[in-house]
Amino acid sequence: IRQFSQPITRVAGIANVIQSTIASAERVFEILDEEEEVVSSNSTEVKSPKGAVSFQDVNFGYTKDHALIDDLTINVEPGQTVAIVGPSGAGKTTLMNLLMRFYEIDNGAIKIDGIDTRTMKRSHVRNLFGMVLQDVWLFNGTIQDNIAYGRENVTKEEIIHAAKAAHADHFIRTLPDGYQTILNEEASNISVGQKQLLTISRAIIANPAILILDEATSSVDTRTEFQIQHAMNKLMNGRTSFIVAHRLSTIKNADTILVMDKGSVIEKGSHDELLAKDGFYADLYTSQYARKAQVPV
Ligand code: ADP
Ligand code: MG
Repeated sequence: IRQFSQPITRVAGIANVIQSTIASAERVFEILDEEEEVVSSNSTEVKSPKGAVSFQDVNFGYTKDHALIDDLTINVEPGQTVAIVGPSGAGKTTLMNLLMRFYEIDNGAIKIDGIDTRTMKRSHVRNLFGMVLQDVWLFNGTIQDNIAYGRENVTKEEIIHAAKAAHADHFIRTLPDGYQTILNEEASNISVGQKQLLTISRAIIANPAILILDEATSSVDTRTEFQIQHAMNKLMNGRTSFIVAHRLSTIKNADTILVMDKGSVIEKGSHDELLAKDGFYADLYTSQYARKAQVPV
């Protein structure tokens, strides 16, 4: 299985820069701490979300003088899985940040079930999503509270059910205080993979229409990766999912693969379509496959 843990960035020969994902998790905290913006009383809501997502001619730059996302248009049907690949710095995480409206776009529109996210409250937009990010986002509190986060009427049974589905229940029970174990902000009392299983448990409880999995298995060992992958597959079932992933095994089964470079989608299609195109993706796949052939399994 080892060959699948080679990051695409390395395959592509480009240095792996993780700063941007760290920046984005910090932004998550920032946004959550921010007071709700003043919205006009006629703000809209997606009542029973189906999870259709569209980007229409979206332009964005973190600074005014430096455009990053350039005229991006994508249409995603409810329940589809979209894999996003490309070198580090291509704009994959940025795209997810824009989708969750962590930043405001400069031009164009992002719509969920046909409704422009700018007409909704930010908190409403965020509640449509479940996120599992590389930089795990836990807070100072018990494991139980970390899983339940944001939901007030969650029962202990639902928490345990979610933890079981995420393969987290077992390790939680081995801790002296179990579900009452207090995590410090770095959560140094549990492993990186275990933290990730907690965020997956949280996403299961939240039962979102749309999932964002951004390099969720990047910093864990192979065995944990397998558990996380398994839990994520269950979580993705029946939901619109965006996965930023290194592993071609994950990507291969996606309905659509977006290949990004320098803020643009340079190729788009299924695994087979992109192989037939014999472009950037095909190169990536071939080099990873070649690597696999060299590594004893
Ligand atoms: P990827 O996820 O594909 O590695 P990102 O979307 O994180 O790429 O980053 C795309 C570009 O935007 C990079 O050049 C990165 O340095 C820059 N960038 C990312 N986050 C920020 C930020 N918060 N402020 C300014 N620039 C950023
Ligand atoms: Mg990223």
